[in-house]
Amino acid sequence: MTLPMPEHFSELPLSPVMQRALAKIGWTKPSPIQAGVIPHALEGYDILGQARTGTGKTASFAIPILEQLDPLRVNPLPQALVLIPTRELANQVHGEFVKLAEGCPTEVVEVAGGKHMQKQLKALAKGVQIVVGTPGRVIDHIQRGSLRLDGLWCVVLDEADRMLDIGFRPSIERILRRCPQNRQTMLLSATLDERIRDLANRYLYEPVVVDCSDKDVSVETIEQRFISVSPDRKQEVLLQLLEREQPPQAIIFCRTKIGTAKLHRQLERFYAGKTDRKVRVGTIHGDMSQPQRDEVFKALRENKIDILVATDVVGRGIDVSSISHIINYDLPDECDDYVHRVGRTGRMGRSGIAFSFVSKDQGYLLTDIEQRINRMLEKDPLSEVVGKRRVPTEASSKQDVRTRAAIAHEPSAHGDLSRGDLVQGDSRQVVIGSESPEVPEADLPFGTAPARRTAGRAKSRGSVRRR
Ligand code: AMP
Repeated sequence: MTLPMPEHFSELPLSPVMQRALAKIGWTKPSPIQAGVIPHALEGYDILGQARTGTGKTASFAIPILEQLDPLRVNPLPQALVLIPTRELANQVHGEFVKLAEGCPTEVVEVAGGKHMQKQLKALAKGVQIVVGTPGRVIDHIQRGSLRLDGLWCVVLDEADRMLDIGFRPSIERILRRCPQNRQTMLLSATLDERIRDLANRYLYEPVVVDCSDKDVSVETIEQRFISVSPDRKQEVLLQLLEREQPPQAIIFCRTKIGTAKLHRQLERFYAGKTDRKVRVGTIHGDMSQPQRDEVFKALRENKIDILVATDVVGRGIDVSSISHIINYDLPDECDDYVHRVGRTGRMGRSGIAFSFVSKDQGYLLTDIEQRINRMLEKDPLSEVVGKRRVPTEASSKQDVRTRAAIAHEPSAHGDLSRGDLVQGDSRQVVIGSESPEVPEADLPFGTAPARRTAGRAKSRGSVRRR
């Protein structure tokens, strides 16, 4: 099925109130995922969409949901449920719904773990149309009886790959099994691997597949480089890099909470001693309370933080379009995490730059990343030269890139080993998987995909809402 790809929101069958809301926030052109999803979702089709954050994927499901909502007095039960992996994302998705609902009173509640239960209970009791929540907290509300699913006509699984990584599969399946069979289901994921396809086969009915995968969109506008450095010199090289780049706004990713807190302190000390310019450093990691994290996000959005030191736990939730630099101080073990981190910059087609620190035993990780994004990372001149601690000349670094490029294009069963050699020294390592174990649920019934719908919701209603 092919529908023409709309160039402007005005070409989509959206209500005047939605067109006005879009005009008010200054959006004119749908992003590729929006252009691909919205027309089909308005027709009531299930959607299997491949897109990462930063591509406008939230609005791709939020707009069709808002367009088809019944007023609260007509349907007092929740009508749409959006499942998302993290609190930060819940907050962001909630904010996006509120923004797009401008001009039409809409009740959206955020039910994420770590947030006030009482407030959520009160909001749910009052009556809501859209629930945005993390799977654990959603189940909690179902068990308490504070959240009913029988009025739902739409369920969204946002960042489904991340939810599976975290180990939410049993919870997701438990929730989906309780949702009405003839619902519309939209599944959005940065990757469509076997696990996602399996989930889609079970719970989606003949979905329209919209592919806005990373190979097309993620990294086009983001310059990506690596810096080879030994672990004991990372901090020193980081300071050199920050001094050279003077980033307007940067996120530095670390692997551990302790490492994050430590680097934050060191950077604070470094910038406290500088009199020529003021650089404000912030941090965010899993040990901080939700109000603390919210405060940091707010400060980042309001440009009151110039450099944020963060862990991956919170990395995905960050949606600040002004971020110019991403620095992977510690490389992630998973390529998808790399894509997500780097995607914090270059939002909605803006340009950005990402640097990754690579030690001599991490060549294989670099190769994996390059294969994942289908692109070679350029070697930054700050890189150490094998065996020596000095900054290479521009010519030597260019030579290095050429050699690496040539080798990467050679068909070789040992690509990552040779690649490790190229970064520095020997690297005969096995790739470490850090995926959370998924506990298969014993009572999982097969064939729980929703029954055939006679027509899409919008079709059966004859028109979209709010006209
Ligand atoms: P998302 O991928 O949903 O996290 O969106 C990334 C950012 O792009 C958010 O700040 C959105 O508000 C913004 N955005 C989404 N769609 C559009 C659009 N069509 N035009 C301009 N900005 C957009």
